[in-house]
Amino acid sequence: MKADPPDAIVVGSGPNGLAAAITLARAGRSVVVYEGAATVGGGMRSAELTLPGYVHDVCSTVQGTSVASPFFAGIDLARHGVELVHPGVPLAHPFDDGRVALLERSVEATAAGLGADGPAYARLFGPLVRDADQILPFILGPSLRVPRHPLAVTRFGLPALWPATTLARRRFRADPARALFGGLCTHSMLALDRVASASFGLVLAMTAHAFGWPVVRGGTQRLADALAAELRALGGEILTGHPVTTLDDLPAARAILFDTTPRALVAITGTRLKGRYRRRLTGFRYGPGVVKVDWALDGPIPWRAEGANRAGTVHVGGTFTEIAAAEAEVARGGHPDRPFVIVVQASRFDGSRAPEGKHTGWAYCHVPSGSTLDMSGRIEAQIERFAPGFRDLILARSVRLPADLEHENPNYVGGDINAGIEDVRQLFTRPVARLDPYSTPARGIYLCSSSTPPGGGVHGMCGVWAARSALRREFGGRA
Ligand SMILES: Cc1cc2nc3c(=O)[nH]c(=O)nc-3n(C[C@H](O)[C@H](O)[C@H](O)COP(=O)(O)OP(=O)(O)OC[C@H]3O[C@@H](n4cnc5c(N)ncnc54)[C@H](O)[C@@H]3O)c2cc1C
Repeated sequence: MKADPPDAIVVGSGPNGLAAAITLARAGRSVVVYEGAATVGGGMRSAELTLPGYVHDVCSTVQGTSVASPFFAGIDLARHGVELVHPGVPLAHPFDDGRVALLERSVEATAAGLGADGPAYARLFGPLVRDADQILPFILGPSLRVPRHPLAVTRFGLPALWPATTLARRRFRADPARALFGGLCTHSMLALDRVASASFGLVLAMTAHAFGWPVVRGGTQRLADALAAELRALGGEILTGHPVTTLDDLPAARAILFDTTPRALVAITGTRLKGRYRRRLTGFRYGPGVVKVDWALDGPIPWRAEGANRAGTVHVGGTFTEIAAAEAEVARGGHPDRPFVIVVQASRFDGSRAPEGKHTGWAYCHVPSGSTLDMSGRIEAQIERFAPGFRDLILARSVRLPADLEHENPNYVGGDINAGIEDVRQLFTRPVARLDPYSTPARGIYLCSSSTPPGGGVHGMCGVWAARSALRREFGGRA
């Protein structure tokens, strides 16, 4: 006998796809997830990318947004065997002269290490961290709307609209503080003189202080496996190795939610999406790419600045001026000689990731969309600059260029890890300006990936809001 078609289908099992599926299943809907890759998780995968016994996070490793996410707060991760490991210090930013700026859990301790700029740092971040539980629901919300806590949100929103360069220069006199803040702002993947590039620095520092930046013991894959177990416990089904190229690949269902880019949505749904909406999806803009390097190491990265050894994440790029120049070069379509590099040293805090005495390293730098230039030499030179002897520790490396990332996961168009540029025009109007950005004009078709608000990062909230939209529109449920 033929099985009944499910109420809903989710295409893609990234954090947003799984969050959408769990939200639908919790509302009593039958759900099947179709995942193109051989394993679940999208940006939450881990693998032995270098040598046997070395566990590398293929994409996301720092779980700063998941610990701040209401969706993840509603999952009993410990019951699924997930342990979050908090490095003593979330972030270090070393300089050539051996000094280091440390973003500690406490705003006061961080400010104390920033010399003359300490009081300015505390004035900027103290109120934001104090009101994080009022500001973050707005940031992780479905789209532009009237905030429940307008004062707290305005205190965040006004400086967030500034270019990082303006905010850094107005608030801080000199480099340790400017560079620390500028490094955080590069996560926007925008040149630092672009409007709203400051927003990422504010949000990331706020989450680091308020929640910490943990890694998952044993690798981020465990987070994916936990979400998959949660979904299966609710009766949901996951089919891996099922890339969807057309709607004909799927059984009939009242709602189909796509954890894909707008580009893939257009291609898969064919003539179901038409006219102006289709044209606007086709005009959705993708950002720069990344070159990702993972290392198997013979020992921990030997940072010259002792404080960097206590940090989970290390921002490698030197002064604010250097970082801004590197990111501007990428925005112009170039490849900086000295790229800004984001390094994570999870094995210092999680011994299960490498054999006894050995270590792993995770890093990436920004490059123009679709770049084919292997930046691993420049990335390693930058780390060597602040950690002499690093190169001698390399036992093996895995280098993935934008095309490799896109081949593994079509959401990373041209290597864009956010599935769409997050500039001021597209941050909230993802994928198009629309009151309900998750629904489409075609009945039963939804987008639930990070190409919708609130955008990139492992938080699952795009999936939650998309599922709520589908429940409301297709199943008469409450939003
Ligand atoms: C190198 C790198 C480093 C990162 N670092 C961090 C970090 O440290 N912290 C953080 O919070 N975020 C990080 N991110 C970003 C984060 O991983 C993403 O923002 C997040 O995973 C997006 O979730 P998603 O569910 O929207 O999409 P994804 O996680 O990309 O999942 C999409 C899924 O859909 C599947 N799929 C796509 N098309 C189809 C199709 N046609 N048929 C079937 N299946 C399909 C894909 O195979 C994939 O499994 C990083 C990303 C990368 C690439």
